[in-house]
Amino acid sequence: IVENIALVIKIKPQDIDALFQNKKAIGYIKNYLESARPVLQSKILTEILQKSNMIDGLTGLHNRKYLDIFMETHVLEYKSYAIAMLDIDYFKKVNDSYGHDAGDRVLRGLSEIFKKTIKKEDVAFRFGGEEFLIFMPTSKDAYETIKKIKDMFEKTIFEIGETSLNKTLSAGISYYKEDAPSAWQVIKNADIALYDAKHSGRNKIVLFKDIKEKDQ
Ligand code: GH3
Ligand code: MG
Ligand code: MG
Repeated sequence: IVENIALVIKIKPQDIDALFQNKKAIGYIKNYLESARPVLQSKILTEILQKSNMIDGLTGLHNRKYLDIFMETHVLEYKSYAIAMLDIDYFKKVNDSYGHDAGDRVLRGLSEIFKKTIKKEDVAFRFGGEEFLIFMPTSKDAYETIKKIKDMFEKTIFEIGETSLNKTLSAGISYYKEDAPSAWQVIKNADIALYDAKHSGRNKIVLFKDIKEKDQ
């Protein structure tokens, strides 16, 4: 892996004098980088290994471990975003009727739909078993993205031996900062909305703010 890593260094002189200074120093910089190479390579490699430990084996999505890191660091860079929690409806039936491998295929199928549907700035996580979290910085498009996923999933036919089956999903969406002032609370709210979707019949998307309004 290490051979394929390219390191780009940008030097931005502040004025023409600094430019000449830098030119003179270029040999020195090259030498320095050459001797620092093993250290840099091992640092980059460690990062790659850490990251691969943060990818879910079955679906190729980010796992819960990476979500924890994401929520403590990257999320702080965003001024607004939406978080959706998605859960397959009556998924246990797939395992019970057709076996665990069939269940795995459905999970992979849904993950492929995520990869095709979400924007490049969105991040999809496998939150647990058959529950997923999608982080969407362009929050105004969040509902549309989740609706697309939901529609595509219920139209997907899985051929399992002699039978073909299709499943539906439920989802809850919550927005930062409209619904909550912290990232973990946004997740919690999305989960509350998901719970509401499940208990009011499944196969639907519920916005957290709509439950709040209902309660008032
Ligand atoms: P609900 O509509 O309320 O969500 O019902 P459900 O059956 O989807 O939910 P429940 O939580 O009862 O069942 C989830 C099942 O998901 C139970 C568990 O065995 C299964 N599961 C979790 N992880 C995996 C996995 O990696 N592969 C497979 N095949 N099944 C899994
Ligand atoms: Mg479920
Ligand atoms: Mg579940």
